[in-house]
Amino acid sequence: MSSSSRGLLFIVSAPSGTGKTTLAERLVQILPNLRMSRSYTSRPARAGERDGVDYNFVSRAHFEGMIARGEFLEWADVFGNFYGTSRLDAEALQASGQDVVLVIDVQGAAQVKKSHIDHTSIFVLPPTFEILERRLRGRSADSETAMQKRLAAARAEAGCYVDYDYVVINDQLEPTVVRLQEIIAAERSRMHRMRTVAQDIIETFRTSDK
Ligand code: 5GP
Repeated sequence: MSSSSRGLLFIVSAPSGTGKTTLAERLVQILPNLRMSRSYTSRPARAGERDGVDYNFVSRAHFEGMIARGEFLEWADVFGNFYGTSRLDAEALQASGQDVVLVIDVQGAAQVKKSHIDHTSIFVLPPTFEILERRLRGRSADSETAMQKRLAAARAEAGCYVDYDYVVINDQLEPTVVRLQEIIAAERSRMHRMRTVAQDIIETFRTSDK
C-alpha cells in the first residue's frame, strides 16, 4: 500500500481472558504500518499502567463531556467504567496512511458497524470456555463475585462472534498472530482497495503495447 492512501480500520473483540490485547500488541510490533488506537477510559489506572500509554485516563465528568460533544467514534460502559475511541485520534492515524486496530468490546464494535464506517472486524475466541476460565483465574486477583461477573460476561460476549467478519481461535499466541496478519494482508489486497495501484500498473501495459 502506498503511504499516501488512507489506512484501514480493524476491530478486534473477544471475551476477556482470550488474550486480545497481547495479540494486538504483538501485531503492531510486527507490522510497521499498523497502530493501536489509545482508548479513553474513566476507570482508574491499575498498578503499572501509565496515562497516555495504556489508556488516556480521564474523569467520568471529562468522559461525559466528550460523549456530549460527539467526540467518540464509539464508546461503551464496561463493568461500570466508560471506555471509548476518539474519532479524531483514529481519523488522524488513518489519514496519515496508517492502519488502525481498535481492541474494543462488543458494544463498541456494534456501534462502528451501525455507523457504516469502513472497517474489518475480527472476533477472537479461546479454544474452550474452560481454558478461558483458567487464564482469567491465573492472572487476576478478583474476588469470586467479580470473577463470576467476568465469566458471565464472557459467556454473553462469546455469542456475538456471528456479527464479525472473521473469527480466529487463539490456541497459541504466534500462530494466532500469523492468522491475524493474513487477514490484514487479505483485506489490503481487496480489489476496491488495490484499484489505484492496479490502474497504474495497467497503464504500463498500455504503453508497452505501442
Ligand atoms: P480493561 O479494563 O481490562 O483494560 O478493559 C475492559 C474491556 O474494555 C475490554 O474488553 C476492552 O477491550 C474494552 N475496551 C478497552 N478500550 C475500549 C474502547 O475504547 N471502547 C470499547 N468499546 N471498549 C474498550
